[in-house]
Amino acid sequence: MVYLNMQAVRPVKLTLNSRFRFRCHPGVPCFTECCGKTTIILTPYDILRLKERLSITSGEFLARYTRREEHEQSGLPLVLMDMERFGGRCPFVRPVTGCIVYSDRPATCRYYPVGQGLLITEDGLDEFYFMIKEEHCKGFEEDAEWTVQSWKEDQGADYYDEINKEWKAMLLRRSSVGKPDTDRRLQDLFYMVMYDLDQFRRFIFKSRFLQIFHVEEDLLQRIYEDDLELLQFGYNYLKMVLKIQDSKDIRLQAGDKPAPASPA
Ligand code: SF4
Ligand code: SF4
Repeated sequence: MVYLNMQAVRPVKLTLNSRFRFRCHPGVPCFTECCGKTTIILTPYDILRLKERLSITSGEFLARYTRREEHEQSGLPLVLMDMERFGGRCPFVRPVTGCIVYSDRPATCRYYPVGQGLLITEDGLDEFYFMIKEEHCKGFEEDAEWTVQSWKEDQGADYYDEINKEWKAMLLRRSSVGKPDTDRRLQDLFYMVMYDLDQFRRFIFKSRFLQIFHVEEDLLQRIYEDDLELLQFGYNYLKMVLKIQDSKDIRLQAGDKPAPASPA
């Protein structure tokens, strides 16, 4: 079950220009208290960064540190940091030194104490923010002042947002249909392409994928070598699969050659 301490959420919609006072550093009395008993949904780029940081495969990372849940609205799979397995604490927090993966910490950790919301509007995606004010967090008593925008920039969250935006858009679009997707094959495909990049690479190069889809040689080389290129290729591939699945007329058959599965 996805958990957010709703009592701590301030019911005020913030914009990028909204101001707040906050500072977190190893000297605060609550140091690392926020790294437990919470829900961290991992984005595709979070997983990419963490598995590279730990020098393990995506499959190993998923098996050791995460659990899978279905996103209620879209039916698509989400990956959560499995804190229950580590006594309710994040597996990467240490009492004295704090976060041992700090420069590769997930987007949620970068944003905190700001929370993010996303809506589909006629003009596209509308991103908004809110403040999470948990009682134990003493960072609000510190003197640094931020806007949401300057906080995002300072924490490197902007870059994560840019890479994850296609993933968020897919979840939202499926949610907006109003009928969660329960096709297990599609859910598993989404899970592999978005979260298990090393498996996705094997799928491309070791299955009949390249007999079915034409991929330009230089792109093929890039996705073979570079996880970020592979993730971006994955976004385009999934968008195409979801479009085909939504169409009543098109059925993808082995041997069909739909539009090249290359990023625009
Ligand atoms: S990844 Fe780091 S910052 Fe995020 S919860 Fe874990 S220890 Fe804390
Ligand atoms: S509870 Fe707040 S101030 Fe304390 S370590 Fe976490 S973010 Fe920083």
